[in-house]
Amino acid sequence: FPFVNSTETNDYHIWLIFTKVSNDSPLTVKFKNLVYNLVNVSLDVPIKFHIIIDEQSKIIAQNKLSEVVYKLNQSLTYKFYNVQECASKISDIVSVMSPFFSSKPGTYYSDALFYLSLGLYRFAPISQKRALLLDCDVYFKRSVSVLFAEFNRFKPSAIFGLSPELSPVYHHILHTYKRKHKTTFGEFYHSRAIAPLNVHPRGFQGYNSGIVLINLEKQRSSKEFAQIILKENVSNITTKYKFRGHLGDQDFYTLIGYEYPQLIQTLNCGFNRQLCTWWREHGYKNIFNYYFKCDHETVVLHGNCNTKFDML
Ligand code: UDP
Ligand code: MN
Repeated sequence: FPFVNSTETNDYHIWLIFTKVSNDSPLTVKFKNLVYNLVNVSLDVPIKFHIIIDEQSKIIAQNKLSEVVYKLNQSLTYKFYNVQECASKISDIVSVMSPFFSSKPGTYYSDALFYLSLGLYRFAPISQKRALLLDCDVYFKRSVSVLFAEFNRFKPSAIFGLSPELSPVYHHILHTYKRKHKTTFGEFYHSRAIAPLNVHPRGFQGYNSGIVLINLEKQRSSKEFAQIILKENVSNITTKYKFRGHLGDQDFYTLIGYEYPQLIQTLNCGFNRQLCTWWREHGYKNIFNYYFKCDHETVVLHGNCNTKFDML
């Protein structure tokens, strides 16, 4: 419909995390390639970049952004956010989550990196109603407007939009729980229902957080979200599923998928087509491909675990 609120439709806020890098880090190359790719492929919409940096990475980011400006012969709109300032606004979330979802809970600031997506609503400017948070190791085949259009398909209760995890990692993490409980959690996705009475009747692989759509407006006003990030709740659900993770925010999104599925809109796998095949060589050879398969059009490739984009 043509007469919709303009701030809702015209703002394409993209958040990137770019920290702990040096000039020759692989991440520096990925960052530059991604910014170039995003602008190049999204000629239909104006992008606003929001980049979370530390002081050293900021200088490198500035250099890379000017190189992109030169290469594109076009200006860029961007703003920097200091990671320590962001971290200080989500310290409650980090201390609740990191004992359960960090591989080795360590320094508070390096832990905070893994949970920024959950607390973005606290440091994003209040005028931002929706945001897209991206890993730097992604490649867009189509305009970001295709991904933003998914916001319009959110069920009314959804705060986040996420694509499935395309490995059996959550089958692995749930193995103790699954020995005693019949559940589709951790099972790979079937195109036909395998269980009639479940919240994810076709199997549920969990979520990957390399691409996160966030309805910030809903998140800020959600009493339910404020409750579920409390320590008592996180402690209860991790105990229930005997869940000990190591993937930060995406472990928590996966648990939200089990207990509060109304809060997440499942995007199709083509919006975050992960390429990592690590689990195929680590005990899951016979079932890996059922998880890895993605029959949707690829909109975004995700070279996770340092996988090159040419592997598919
Ligand atoms: N990241 C960062 N500094 C680091 C490592 C990671 O800023 O030293 C950010 C960066 O945005 C990266 C994201 O965290 O894309 C997630 O890391 P990565 O994509 O390597 O993880 P994977 O997708 O392989 O699990
Ligand atoms: Mn990634």
